Amino acid sequence: MKFKQDYFTRLAGFYQQVLPAGLPSPHWLAWSDDAAALLGLNGPSETLLQQLAGNQRMPGAEYYAQVYSGHQFGGYSPRLGDGRSIILGEALGPEGAWDLALKGAGPTPYSRHGDGRAVMRSAVREFLVSEALYHLGVPTTRALAVIGSELPVWRESLEKGAITVRLARSHIRFGHFEYFCYSEKGQADKLKQLLDFTLSQHYPQLSLDYEGYKAWFALVVRDTARMIAHWQAVGFAHGVMNTDNMSILGDSFDFGPFAFLDTFKEDFICNHSDPEGRYAFGQQPGIGLWNLQRLAQALTPVLASDDLIAALNTYQHELVQQYLGLMRAKLGLAPLAEGLSLNDRLEQDNKDLALIGAFTGLLEQNALDYTQSLRRFGELDPKAENSSLRDDFINRQGWDDWLPEYRRRIDIRQGLEQWQAERRAHNPKYILRNYLAQEAIIAIEEEGNSQPLEQLYQLLRRPFDEQPEMQEFAKRPPDWGQGLIMSCSS
Ligand code: AMP
Ligand code: MG
Ligand code: MG
Repeated sequence: MKFKQDYFTRLAGFYQQVLPAGLPSPHWLAWSDDAAALLGLNGPSETLLQQLAGNQRMPGAEYYAQVYSGHQFGGYSPRLGDGRSIILGEALGPEGAWDLALKGAGPTPYSRHGDGRAVMRSAVREFLVSEALYHLGVPTTRALAVIGSELPVWRESLEKGAITVRLARSHIRFGHFEYFCYSEKGQADKLKQLLDFTLSQHYPQLSLDYEGYKAWFALVVRDTARMIAHWQAVGFAHGVMNTDNMSILGDSFDFGPFAFLDTFKEDFICNHSDPEGRYAFGQQPGIGLWNLQRLAQALTPVLASDDLIAALNTYQHELVQQYLGLMRAKLGLAPLAEGLSLNDRLEQDNKDLALIGAFTGLLEQNALDYTQSLRRFGELDPKAENSSLRDDFINRQGWDDWLPEYRRRIDIRQGLEQWQAERRAHNPKYILRNYLAQEAIIAIEEEGNSQPLEQLYQLLRRPFDEQPEMQEFAKRPPDWGQGLIMSCSS
């Protein structure tokens, strides 16, 4: 592996150096060939295992933990930082550089009272969700591997330590900017240094001046809106949308008690530590804006409020447009005709939003599975009175009432088969249901068997393919796996 060390060399004072504590008896629990290709790696090797476990030094790597702060559940924490993640630098791949981080590698200067470790179940979940989201087309950080070990780690009970090897285009979070606005002297200087770094690394088209910063913030608003639109369309709840878990590039990031929806439920909560539902599924769009407002506030030493507000004001429009684009493709609603007036466009957008909302409302009333129901559009003949989708509804009248307006909005001129194939290409058959992850984890815990994990990972690489021999994995959760709520203690 080859590294460049831009963050390390250009941002002294934005991290502290720390070596991994090492993992006893490390072994590969998971490996992503797709992520490995991003780094030009051929495959796992014994040397790489010892390096990524933190038992041997990786040539070319520096070892550091970044400092940041953030708003957690609405309250400001002035100093967080990488408490259990050590970054080795930007690894050079054939098409770009990827921050390489070892999550769970041991204590850092930011660990506070934590042990700097991650338990196997949490490392496996982060690995699976990173790769699953990627293959669903959702912007996300990636995961190269999970390394298991015999290290005892104490949570609610005794567990084993593991490391997720994370790849990110950047680890810079909203919370980095908050830290350098509120905690350090000479705010504007440090903020500008961080801004210049971010822009030169990731937005080479932008100038390093006021106009560039202003344009950049507008792009952060756009990319955050795009990420959340994807979450809402695919039925993903992140669970801990604190500003320290928000990537500046709009990649899904830092996964804890996340869940994909089984039954559609607007106020679905996946996080055991969030009884009030601050981060409930349906709250995510509003929280995205709230988080951007916190970022804007941290940028006031360098950008005028009017410019920040102007960018924030584009958020809702961006989100709605992105969401509409994704949902139209899922349901097969015709794209809007070119040359529509702005008013007609707005009116049609609102009608489509109402149509989509009525559909998800029906799913909720009938306690139907979100993913399965959308997948059924791939076998639907919208002209027919009866369908397998209609049969799923307890309240068939609701469906029958919804159908006429839907029929008016679709366009099947290309032929039914082609139309159905397009629906299958936009509506996954397989998602990372919590119970599936749980089964793979239990097999490792109870039998030391990582085959189910490998099988699940392979399945999720092709979420839109039928994979007829894997039907079981498309099912709704069994009783024990319904509404699994994950805790933050991972
Ligand atoms: P999270 O909720 O996972 O995003 O974590 C919030 C903060 O707590 C981050 O600064 C983490 O680095 C830190 N943290 C979480 N778990 C641990 C741990 N086991 N040891 C040290 N720091 C941790
Ligand atoms: Mg975090
Ligand atoms: Mg975390």
